[in-house]
Amino acid sequence: MDDRSLALMQELSDAPGASGFEDAVVAVARKYFSGAGRLEEDFLRNLYFYRKENTGNKPILMLDAHSDEVGFIIQHIKPNGTLAFLPLGGWNKNAPVSSRVMVRNALGEYIPGVIAAKPVHYMSAAEKQSPALEMDAMVIDIGATDMEDAKTNFHIRIGEPVVPADTFYYDRERDLMFGKAFDCRIGCAAMIEALLRLEGKELPCDVVAVLSTQEELGPRNSKVTVNRIRPDAAIVMEGCPADDTFVESWAVQTALKKGPMFRHMDVSAICAPRFQRYVLDLAEEKGIPVQEAVRRGGGNNAASIQTALCGAPAVVAGVPVRYAHSTTCISSGFDFEATVDMVMALLENITPEVIKSF
Ligand SMILES: [Zn+2]
Repeated sequence: MDDRSLALMQELSDAPGASGFEDAVVAVARKYFSGAGRLEEDFLRNLYFYRKENTGNKPILMLDAHSDEVGFIIQHIKPNGTLAFLPLGGWNKNAPVSSRVMVRNALGEYIPGVIAAKPVHYMSAAEKQSPALEMDAMVIDIGATDMEDAKTNFHIRIGEPVVPADTFYYDRERDLMFGKAFDCRIGCAAMIEALLRLEGKELPCDVVAVLSTQEELGPRNSKVTVNRIRPDAAIVMEGCPADDTFVESWAVQTALKKGPMFRHMDVSAICAPRFQRYVLDLAEEKGIPVQEAVRRGGGNNAASIQTALCGAPAVVAGVPVRYAHSTTCISSGFDFEATVDMVMALLENITPEVIKSF
């Protein structure tokens, strides 16, 4: 990864952006996109990027990456000063407890807290045996002594977002990235980087990219983005869950350092089969490493893009992320670069005729 890609990835990963509160992520994207094309935004804070080389008379290829991350929202301030919360997005319920988080207060500052559960010293024998803790049994402790302290001195109020507090780290020697929110900030970074590397280049189709908000709550905002862009085909960029540390080796379909994963299907969609085949054949022709998967779970914006308006064929380019939807993720620079290469190859090779063949 070059210095710009790393800085982009670091800023995007560190930016707080629980679903509905993606302002800081949008600001980073605006900074890197600036000068390379025209930017628009809607009230949902979906950020649209139009290449300045677009002609207005070619088919439109849409790129999508979601700007939000799984987080929490403050529901109550308890009399003892701890904070009850609800999840924003699909958490592994074992992941949050004991981790440090950042809580936005009424002044707009992110202040530290800890996701706390009853200490082992105060658990009954039955509680100690209990395999997993429900999220309702956890609170966020910011160190306040009571409700009044939380309100007056910490400026806490309900309805404010909370995100994991992990910060980005790159192990250059082993080419590994550690940090939070790689689902989908690594997809956002790969999308932005591919577009910046294609700056000034004429492409066979017009390209409109969008950082879409609130995907972790279900593919709801992409209904709006599709309406504005009216794409002829779409590539959805994702940070997708790697499976190589928890399944049998013969069943691994999304491993670290093997390139982006293109899914034939997940719970939400069958990715346009002829488009999917085109991607896999092009990857082979160009010598770009990719992986393919048939997924039992998952879901993403391709589902709503394929079924909105008159429908647009979509595929999903997923950068493998170990431990997506938890507080700390691991990804590799190799996979980031392979994803950028693949998306650039697609944008350079998909012609209006190719879209017709989908
Ligand atoms: Zn995602």
